[in-house]
Amino acid sequence: MAQQCSLCNDEVDELYLLVKQTTLDLIRADHPEWIEADGGCKKCMDYYNALDGEVEVLTLRTNL
Ligand SMILES: [Zn+2]
Repeated sequence: MAQQCSLCNDEVDELYLLVKQTTLDLIRADHPEWIEADGGCKKCMDYYNALDGEVEVLTLRTNL
């Protein structure tokens, strides 16, 4: 059954949920109306996970 990703509005077979708070915060920064329970498609989750990874690396470098 097709579902709609509330982040990119694509119709997808499956929606994914994230558990990592920092990644959720990144999504909310771009989509203030987004609700965590809505989840997102794999493309969006991969995108924000990758962004989150970059943020973590930058944060580590700043702390050094
Ligand atoms: Zn999406």
